[in-house]
Amino acid sequence: MLEKSADVVIIGGGVIGCSIAYQLAKQQVRVVVLERTRFAAGASGATAGVISPLWHVDPDIEPMWRLGMRSLELFPSLASELSEAGVDPEFRQAGVFKLAFTDKEAEELQRNLVWQSKLGLGVAWLDQAEALQREPEASTAVLGGIFSPKEGHVRGRRLVDSLVQVASRLGAQFHQGVEVLNFRKEGNRVSGVVTSWGSVNAPQVVLAAGPSSGLPARWLQQQGAPEIPVRPVKGERILLRKPGFLPRSPVRNSEAYVVPRMDGDVLVAATRVESRFDEVVTAAGVSHLIAAAVLSFPSLAHAEFVSGRAGVRPATPDGMPVLGPVPDVEGLSIAAGHDSVGIMLSPATAEMMAQFLLDGNAASLEPFSISRF
Ligand SMILES: Cc1cc2nc3c(=O)[nH]c(=O)nc-3n(C[C@H](O)[C@H](O)[C@H](O)COP(=O)(O)OP(=O)(O)OC[C@H]3O[C@@H](n4cnc5c(N)ncnc54)[C@H](O)[C@@H]3O)c2cc1C
Repeated sequence: MLEKSADVVIIGGGVIGCSIAYQLAKQQVRVVVLERTRFAAGASGATAGVISPLWHVDPDIEPMWRLGMRSLELFPSLASELSEAGVDPEFRQAGVFKLAFTDKEAEELQRNLVWQSKLGLGVAWLDQAEALQREPEASTAVLGGIFSPKEGHVRGRRLVDSLVQVASRLGAQFHQGVEVLNFRKEGNRVSGVVTSWGSVNAPQVVLAAGPSSGLPARWLQQQGAPEIPVRPVKGERILLRKPGFLPRSPVRNSEAYVVPRMDGDVLVAATRVESRFDEVVTAAGVSHLIAAAVLSFPSLAHAEFVSGRAGVRPATPDGMPVLGPVPDVEGLSIAAGHDSVGIMLSPATAEMMAQFLLDGNAASLEPFSISRF
């Protein structure tokens, strides 16, 4: 049965909503998460789960870089906390290996190496022989690559499951199949939510609805209420199976990642289609991903095709998430718009959002404020 009240209600049971709930539950906050379908049913379950700020965050965009590096720092302790509580999110700090197949790609990687090697993370160039020693089934057309040992990967679905289970034990309430239909409003204050199963009163509501986060702005029906500029970007991924073969870490070429999974399957990701809100697995997506995987590992041409899946990423106009309070609407905040890096950025996002919800100080979230649009 749905609670009548809570300290914080979170809309959306993806990695962002569940991570915030976990951080709040650790601080004894009465938090309720409402998910309209199933936990991790959206992008968080379709993800490749690669944790690689070095290749996915521009170091010149300082707030994003800090969010990425803080998340990288938090992942190992978060994963061991969750594992010790009995649910392994399958995080592995196995490194990330980016390969070059053309002189142009090799030059580009070498240029990046100049700043990456100053980070103290042990990032190094491996020449062709070293690359093949590390990944013996890699294509002999490889010219070399950059190995970054402190990065890694996690299984998105397992991460969300473990957050739900461990936070539940700490007192958080999670509900699936409960769609939020509207906010409860008192003047310019949001005081809870209206759902398909009744209302929940709460002084704080967090919108973490992934690519659907733009729609609830309409519920405010308030003059001057901000647009929430989160748009959908579809992505597909596939699973292959080749007994006896798994890359040692996520291996990237210019087209896709090949990622090892603990169950022995090989995940290949991802495509990117702007403004698409469907989860259809397409022939074009699958064939693109197979070609990209075979470029790195020719023997994958003989792998069993296991399955395909699509998800919808939540993207914003400037590539940064929207985090923090909604101006002029008391009691409502947002944590959405993480695009291709939401799994990676989830620990630091949750840390900052939970801190704001506890002390009301949004200073650290300022660069991510919706007011920037
Ligand atoms: C193919 C693919 C590969 C990717 N690879 C990576 C990667 O390697 N590394 C990485 O860091 N990121 C990756 N991403 C991106 C990452 O998965 C997303 O950024 C992240 O999962 C977004 O999480 P979220 O919680 O914001 O959204 P979601 O996971 O979409 O969760 C939002 C939830 O809100 C629910 N919801 C919406 N509206 C309502 C409502 N009204 N009431 C109740 N519930 C509602 C939805 O059902 C959904 O479950 C990838 C994404 C895709 C699609």
